[in-house]
Amino acid sequence: MAKGKIKVNTENIFPIIKKFLYSDNEIFLRELVSNATDATNKLKTYSSTGELKGDIGDTTIEIEIRKEEKQLIFRDRGIGMTKDEVVKYIADIAFSGAEEFVEKYKDKGDTANIIGHFGLGFFSSFMVAERVEINSKSYKDEPAVLWSRDGSPEFTTSKSDKTERGTEIILHIAEDSTEFLEEARITTLLNKYCKFMPVAIKFGTKQEQKDDPKGKKDKDGNVEKLTVTVDNIINNSEPAWTKSPSKLKDEGYKGFYRELYPMNFQEPLFHIHLNVDYPFNLTGILYFPKLANNIEIQKDKIQLYSNQVFVTDSVEGIVPEFLTLLHGVIDSPDIPLNVSRSYLQTDSNVKKIASHITKKVADKLASLFKKDRKDFESKWDDIKVFIEYGMLSEDKFNEKAEKFALYKSTDGTYSTMEEYKKKLKANQVDKDGNTICLYTNDEQAHHSYIETAKERGYDVLILNSPLTSHFISKIEQSNEKVKFARIDSDTLDKLIPKDEEIPSKLTEKDEEKLKPVIESVVKKEQFMVQFESMNEKEAPVLITEPEFMRRMKEQQAMGGGGMMGMGSMPDMYNLVINSNHPLISKILAEKDETKQKDMTKQATDLALLSQNLLKGEDLTNFIKRSTELIS
Ligand code: ADP
Repeated sequence: MAKGKIKVNTENIFPIIKKFLYSDNEIFLRELVSNATDATNKLKTYSSTGELKGDIGDTTIEIEIRKEEKQLIFRDRGIGMTKDEVVKYIADIAFSGAEEFVEKYKDKGDTANIIGHFGLGFFSSFMVAERVEINSKSYKDEPAVLWSRDGSPEFTTSKSDKTERGTEIILHIAEDSTEFLEEARITTLLNKYCKFMPVAIKFGTKQEQKDDPKGKKDKDGNVEKLTVTVDNIINNSEPAWTKSPSKLKDEGYKGFYRELYPMNFQEPLFHIHLNVDYPFNLTGILYFPKLANNIEIQKDKIQLYSNQVFVTDSVEGIVPEFLTLLHGVIDSPDIPLNVSRSYLQTDSNVKKIASHITKKVADKLASLFKKDRKDFESKWDDIKVFIEYGMLSEDKFNEKAEKFALYKSTDGTYSTMEEYKKKLKANQVDKDGNTICLYTNDEQAHHSYIETAKERGYDVLILNSPLTSHFISKIEQSNEKVKFARIDSDTLDKLIPKDEEIPSKLTEKDEEKLKPVIESVVKKEQFMVQFESMNEKEAPVLITEPEFMRRMKEQQAMGGGGMMGMGSMPDMYNLVINSNHPLISKILAEKDETKQKDMTKQATDLALLSQNLLKGEDLTNFIKRSTELIS
């Protein structure tokens, strides 16, 4: 047996690291399994280049719990290490990495996910083990070696009787980490970190049903089953994103989606297969999920991998915010994965990757739009929040999306902004040359407004996403002379003012006479009474809510963009009196004051009712009064 000493200056390096990384200690498993995977892949490379002769045999990696002995073992059949290599790679390099880590981070709190970056991969096993042994036999013709070390800087090496090529890492689990001797815990971790690693990983065995070759067939042709014990392979070493798109077909992509999110029963709408090798390496599959209005719950589901090793399932801050609404996998060895999140966010490779993905996503949508417009339209309602979000937050995306972003009309047709402007040219341009896009956020609630607009030959859009008011403000900014107005924000004549004016049947004196009567039946602080010379066929009284005020409030409610304090302001409405309606003339002519007030009250209540603003006692009284009227 030979003794050696780790070449570090900081004697108590180990407890420091343990303290730093404690919350992340489960990461040792990822590090050890990915070391085993690397060693196996190197072996395969040597074999394919001829450096290694002969059959390499089964290369399955094995993980074994020996509960009684308090051991957790990682076994691979990779290239293995000679005695010199163990000393060099493990004792010298890995530990000097550990020292560098401590030097750099001992005064900072920011340590998450930092391990492998400093070559701490193997070292992380000391976070859960009081002693670690390496039993390794190199593919080179050299004797096997057994290396052992407890928490102190000293280690020993001795001869080993291992005859099989490869490395066995034996962790003697520490008292405070016995959770890692539980099968369920290890299964969970393997599932989290190793589910798509590129070499088969075995964890125990499992029972499986298979056709009994000597079994009888029943009348439906089903053969009798046999229960067999098979290796429990916990990973899929060839996940869909590593395959060529032509091999996968639609079913392959859907199958992989289910593999990624077994608890999500909704099928994705479509996918994008990413495959870049210049100027960086990146593969992956992104899925468009059906988006509900509550986007928060669907956010941040993309998983980030590095050469099939799981790194994180929180890509927030790494890819543009709107892309976090997508699902799927991104795999890139060029993302410096083992560094802190704040470092990642400023890394130039990461930025390039993020903008590349943004571009790919926009291109994919553009091609779907071009290829099958009808299909794209049928999916629009499910993806519009995503697209609006992207257009609002990323200029590059916006540039492309302007060409395929759709606007849905109440008659069921979809138009791009360019098409829509043409559609409105004949009838919906006001006297100042503004194209006015009328919209509703609720077809049911605005039914009567929509009908009135349709009677005039106007088109009404349905814009009902949580981002609508931010979104239309953006579209107005980038399209000169295009204005959006919700259908209940003013009278049609005011929304789309034309040159011809309808003469009013009321004189100024008449208005002065009527105004106090009307104000006496409504809450003055909530309603501004206005007279307007409208078509006599329109409603006698109309409630509108000014577009600007309402939009400000909505934007503030969604966060950002609004004005401070607007949220606490009461809703303000206009109470518009149609000067030309016969009912208004009748009210004016009524000599009996009580009767005049009753008629006014009934007319304004009807207007409130159609805006869903008549509530409580006022509603009860209205119903009573109306019943009396009919009886
Ligand atoms: P990293 O993996 O980041 O290089 P590690 O501390 O995990 O850092 O490992 C140090 C080195 O030890 C590796 O680069 C590799 O050469 C060697 N090594 C670790 N585990 C194995 C293994 N299972 N088989 C062969 N070599 C290994």
